[in-house]
Formats: sequence, C-alpha cells, structure tokens
Amino acid sequence: MKTENHTDYRATSNACKLCSPLGASLVFRGIENSVPLLHGSQGCSTYIRRYLISHFNEPVDIASSNFTEETAVFGGGANLKLAMDNIIRQYHPELIGVATTCLSETIGDDVPMILRNYSGENGEDAAPAVVSVSTPSYSGTHMDGFHGAVKATVAAMAQKKGKAGEHINLFPGMLSPADYRHLKEIFEDFGAKIHLLPDYSETLEGGLWSEYQKIPPGGTPVKQITAMGDALATVEMGRILAETESAGKLLEDRFRVPCFRVGIPMGIKETDTFFDAVSTITKRKVPEKYLKERARLIDAYVDGHKYIFEARAVIYGEEDLVVGLASFLSEIGVVPVLCASGGKSGYLNAKLAQVIDDFETKGIQVMDGADFVEIGEAAKKLSPDFFMGNSKGYKTAREMNKPLIRIGFPIHDRMGGGRIVHIGYRGAQQLFDTISNTVIASRQDASPVGYTYM
Ligand code: SF4
Repeated sequence: MKTENHTDYRATSNACKLCSPLGASLVFRGIENSVPLLHGSQGCSTYIRRYLISHFNEPVDIASSNFTEETAVFGGGANLKLAMDNIIRQYHPELIGVATTCLSETIGDDVPMILRNYSGENGEDAAPAVVSVSTPSYSGTHMDGFHGAVKATVAAMAQKKGKAGEHINLFPGMLSPADYRHLKEIFEDFGAKIHLLPDYSETLEGGLWSEYQKIPPGGTPVKQITAMGDALATVEMGRILAETESAGKLLEDRFRVPCFRVGIPMGIKETDTFFDAVSTITKRKVPEKYLKERARLIDAYVDGHKYIFEARAVIYGEEDLVVGLASFLSEIGVVPVLCASGGKSGYLNAKLAQVIDDFETKGIQVMDGADFVEIGEAAKKLSPDFFMGNSKGYKTAREMNKPLIRIGFPIHDRMGGGRIVHIGYRGAQQLFDTISNTVIASRQDASPVGYTYM
C-alpha cells in the first residue's frame, strides 16, 4: 500500500537464487565421511534438506546448532559446541563442515574462534577435521556459498608435501551427479587421475540401501583434498568464477599449482576449450570416443537446425550456468532473448558478450540480482518460444503458456534432476534433442490440423 509518507519500494518476490548455506551444505555432502552443520536455527537446515531431498530424491542429513530466542540474544557458542559433540558421538565423521546462517551472521558470532576454543578444550587429535565458512544469505547466493565452501575446504586442508604429483584438481562448480560421473569418465579416458571437489555423484545419487546409512558412501576422500597442493594442475569451471579469488587461484598463489580456468563446458565451443585444456595438461590427444560424440553432435545440429533456428528462449539460473547455456544456445541458432540470474557478480553482461555471437545487435536483455516477478514482466514483452532453467520458473512459464525445459537446480516437479547431463558433447546432444523436440511439439500442438510426419 502506498501512503503519502512512503516512497515506492518492492521486496524481492521468489528470488532467482537460493540460500548461501545450501551451496555450502552441498559441498560438504560431497566430501567422504563428512557432515554439514549449520550454525543457526533449525528452520534453515530443514528448508535446505527439503530442497535437496526433493531434487535428488535421497536422504540428506544436515545438522543444526539449533538457535533459540536466548541463543539469538546471548550468542550461539555453547550450542555450536554441543552440536559438535552430538555429531562426533552419533556420526563419527572424518570432517565437519560448519556454515553460518543469516541469524548467526547478524548477531556476529565468531565461529572460527568458537571452533578454536572447542578444539583447545577437547584436544585436536581426538576431533575430526573442521572447516568453517561464512555464508550470510542476505549478501550472496547458493553459488557464493558453494564456491566459498570449496575455497574454505582447500584453504584449511590442502598441503604441499613433495614434488608436483600426477593428479589434477578439478573444481567443476555446482553440476549434477551425472555431470560429475561424466567428468570422471572423461579424465579416466585421458588416463588422468583427478581429485574432484566436491563429489556428490554417489552421496546424492547412490543405489538402494538395505539399511539406513547415517553418512552415505562416496564423496571426495579427505586425503585427496590434503594432497591438492601437490597437483600437476587445477581445472576450474566457470567464466564468472574465474574473476574471483577462487580455490584454484588460492592453490596457484600458495603452492604454484597452475590453474586452467574454463567456462562450464556446455555446447561445442566451451567443451572444445575444456578438452583442449585437459589435452594440454595430460599431453594426450582427445580420445577417439569424444571426437565421434562431437561429430555426431554436429550432424544433429545440421539435421535439427531448420526446426530451432531463431527460436527465442528465456534462460535463468546461476550466473555461470546461464553463461554456459547462452553459449550453447547461441551456437545452435536459438536467441537467448532474456538471460537472468539472482547472482550479482557484476560480470554477467560482459561474460555473455564473450560467448554470444553478435551480442550487441541481438538486443538481448540481461538481468542480474533478478527475481521471478521481474523475469516474468520482462519475458511478457519478449515473446519467447520456451523457458529454460530450474523449477522455480514454472509459475512464470505457465502464466505465459510456454514450455519450460528444466535444467540446473532445483528441479522439484520432475524426476531425474540429478541425472541430467549438462556438459560435454554428450550433454549438448541431450539438451539439443530436448530443445528441438520441445519447439517441434509446441508448433505441432498449435497447428490447426496437426501432423504426424515432418
Ligand atoms: S534465514 Fe538465511 S540461512 Fe536461513 S534459510 Fe533463510 S536465507 Fe537461508
């Protein structure tokens, strides 16, 4: 309501981002024998568990230091120490990853100091490794929490013990378990050992258990993280991440591990750059298997071009995913007329200009720090053929009666979110077929006569 004494303002409605400790929890869930612990109220961990469980369809334990009204006033140090005791007793973890929440950040709890006191009181040898990361959600997105947790883990644990080893550190960002499995396959085919962080390819998409596992099997072994200072090289994915003080940069500065920064390998151009980097590091040619996948993909591009050329897409999600997706869409002739993200790195426009051909002349609208009200208002003026992003955009796409192709995170209203392959020639092939068939189906459904043959 507007009164004489109030100026116009609008709160964020359905932000195009998720909360920061969610990203951190995902990283800690991808480390072997590790437990994520949120320092704050129970509602934060319940919300995050709800989001992760709905996407991955797997049980996800996230501990909480369980703030009450009293804790919010007098500080949560005692609660955090009690939570540590309980986790160690019940889970026997090798690592506890502590992420802060809005509440503990707002009252100003000094988590590193509380944890130092805890190990002083209990003896460092008896306790599991502890990594803490500051993740105030009001100043960042789930991606900031994710990258922050990767960096905090590397900063706390990586060491240089000897000469450069044979392994490659891989920080791929927040991809699907199927993407992680595909990356492992690629490096194995190059004959290379990787230390992948995080790795929730098993912990968040494992098989059926006959008995409940408190900590799901799988994840990056702690000893692989400690050995990261001895790596031959690091590969880090994300054009926007490349502009930040990332884990790869930390290893480069601290231990002189060369860092190869590539975009998320979506589509042929970005995947070529990624394969070139792996080829350079390993001094091996791209395996024939991937050259064949690439050739089949180009053939499919030629076959499907007539159906999707100049189709218009609204795309949204994490900034680096949006950049990767825009690069892919641009090379298949789809115009990403609106590229939106809840992230606010300040680099989105510049990075999109790098990957979209004729960016300046296409009139592409770029929105950062966006919510779905703004995305919906902009989309209505742009007559898109389809939306592409996570389930949070469904309401907007539905209002406009446009199809939504689901990728990224979270996917709450379809099966198989964890099994989508976004990356590599293989991922591009799957996405290309999905996009083509979505556009074809829309036209077929809108046709007054219908047709059964093209
Ligand atoms: S209060 Fe902050 S940390 Fe907790 S769920 Fe909400 S956004 Fe996330």
